Amino acid sequence: MVGLSRRRTPEASAPEVPARAEVRDLCVAACPYCGVELKKVPGAATRCPDCHQTMYVRTDKRDQTRRVVTEEQAARIDDAHEVMAAGDLARYDRRVRETTDRLRVRFGYEPAYRDVRWSMLNEDQLTHQARRDYGLYRNTQWKMMEELDRSGPGKQRQALEFALNIFYMDQCEPNNLGGLANAEKFGARPWGPAPKLERGSLTEWIRGRCEKLGITAEQAARDYEPAAERLKMALKIPQQWAAIWPQCL
Ligand SMILES: [Zn+2]
Repeated sequence: MVGLSRRRTPEASAPEVPARAEVRDLCVAACPYCGVELKKVPGAATRCPDCHQTMYVRTDKRDQTRRVVTEEQAARIDDAHEVMAAGDLARYDRRVRETTDRLRVRFGYEPAYRDVRWSMLNEDQLTHQARRDYGLYRNTQWKMMEELDRSGPGKQRQALEFALNIFYMDQCEPNNLGGLANAEKFGARPWGPAPKLERGSLTEWIRGRCEKLGITAEQAARDYEPAAERLKMALKIPQQWAAIWPQCL
């Protein structure tokens, strides 16, 4: 996913930014998964020579430390930073705990953060759909696509479907109506005004992924038709998928 930018929809501005404290560097030359000693402290994402898992380097703003972390820890830190920017960390932590508790009961074992996160993203989707915050819905789908993309070869087909969802939505220009029932009265529109029909970095990603899966982009677009119809119905997208993809995929 490197090189793709996540579209930023306007978010609440951060209420208070704490004074910038000095960062403590706690990076060590050891794999956070298996503990094997490394030749040097990694400066960026690095694959362990021993267990072959990828480790990441993050500066955690919650305690101002820089550490070498696992993928799960990096995801937790990234998510915390995102909610900190919206000024909502305590509420978010509570939500993570509650979701973890609920899934533990349902699964009968301790859920991975990945599962907790997926469950919360699903809830977010429903909330955004109900409020007609289609730009936020789109961003949530992006996070789900990234999650699937990280989950290995078995999830690649599903990741592609999410990418096509995002592509379809992007072409139709999603807006956020914030739950206002009469938003149209004030000139707001959920989609629009006209489709973009542009190629972009996502087009390249989709074409590349299709190649890896051994299908053409055209075939993927046709296979995606039923899913496009479901998305169109759910989000009341004005344009037909068939009117979009032949021009820009
Ligand atoms: Zn290792």
